[in-house]
Amino acid sequence: MRDETIAIHAGYGGDPSTRAVAVPIYQTVAFEFDSAEHGAALFNLEVPGNIYTRIGNPTNTVLEKRVAALEGGVDALSVSAGMAAIHYALANITEAGNNIVSLPQLYGATYTLLAHIFPKQGICTRFAKSDNPSDVEALIDENTRAIYCESVGNPAGNVADVEELARVAHKHAVPLIVDNTVATPILLKPIQYGADVVVHSMTKFMGGHGTSIGGMIVDGGKFPWRKYPDKFYMFNRPEIAYHGVVYVDQYGDAAFAARCRTVCQRNTGATLSPFNGFLFLQGIETLALRVERHVENARRVAEFLRDHPQVAWVNYAGFPDNPLYAMAQRYLGSKRCSLLTFGVKGGFESGRKCFNALNLFKRMVNMGDAKSLACHPASTTHRQLTLEEQAKAGVTPEMLRLSVGIEHIDDIIADLSQALDAAA
Ligand SMILES: *Cc1c(COP(=O)(O)O)cnc(C)c1O
Repeated sequence: MRDETIAIHAGYGGDPSTRAVAVPIYQTVAFEFDSAEHGAALFNLEVPGNIYTRIGNPTNTVLEKRVAALEGGVDALSVSAGMAAIHYALANITEAGNNIVSLPQLYGATYTLLAHIFPKQGICTRFAKSDNPSDVEALIDENTRAIYCESVGNPAGNVADVEELARVAHKHAVPLIVDNTVATPILLKPIQYGADVVVHSMTKFMGGHGTSIGGMIVDGGKFPWRKYPDKFYMFNRPEIAYHGVVYVDQYGDAAFAARCRTVCQRNTGATLSPFNGFLFLQGIETLALRVERHVENARRVAEFLRDHPQVAWVNYAGFPDNPLYAMAQRYLGSKRCSLLTFGVKGGFESGRKCFNALNLFKRMVNMGDAKSLACHPASTTHRQLTLEEQAKAGVTPEMLRLSVGIEHIDDIIADLSQALDAAA
């Protein structure tokens, strides 16, 4: 099936007890066992079924199957936030003494997690000096356990060379973990290019309406954990944190997602609320339609800004003279993300004036909402970083970031036009 169909049907064949057509919200903490023996079999993972919502919930199971199908993965785990997805995906395969090699430009909170929080637990991140896969490769050593990148960076909009990064990762026997939040599986499916694990902030395009925080970890199912029994012992040896299960034996290709669920999530509890799971299912039904309109509106906005005398520069990967053009063309085809950045002439002050004059655009730190949003990264998402760290993350002081929504394009452009006039 194609994306549009998967997004509406995958993972759900109707509720057997009620025949409900929409996915029910199973707002329950626990699930009843038939007997002591049934409970034991569930805990031993001998029979499928639900135990306790911290470990799994039927509403969220549908969502997990749906997102796994959209990304071309074998299984997935929903969690309470994109940040929890990133944390779990990395915690699943690292311990003190290990390192992660990352592309230099990352979402602000991800950068902080990798640069300042994991190191306190003995897990350091080596940031490559550029997006070039050879700069990534140069940092890999025997303690490296993952290569990390965003398929399309937030906020810089850089497009990662996923296929080449996967080749480098596999050459050195480590998985490639890709944050696919900005691109969404509608524009790019990293697993098709060799990524092993995909993480999402569903908070953005997947939910699509700015109502819920949530994350997803998708297991691509292809990394050969079995081939590296010492390096990735957590999948190959009995797991003491889950009564001795050997993940590659019990779960085969879906060992990564299973361990995320039964070790990371079960014991630290960043569980997605089933109600939010339901809202994400609603959002995903229209994901392909919305992305199509986001993409088209963003193209029109980029062209408007490029031609405007008050605009100093526009960073939009759809312009052939943009340094990102070739990579975007390769991975996104003729489409581009609806995230773009620009600078207003007159520097920080004019930029600030333009930002403050926006009416339709909401001034906020989010993206992927049906509503058009504007953000000033230097004063919000990236303000906790030093200027040098900001520059490394692709943020400059005068930069405004737009997440172009799905309102009528004429209204969107009219708002930008009056705000630029106000800044002049
Ligand atoms: C928003 C975002 C996150 C964090 O997701 P939350 O759901 O807010 O925790 C991670 N990565 C990217 C690229 C994001 O845009």
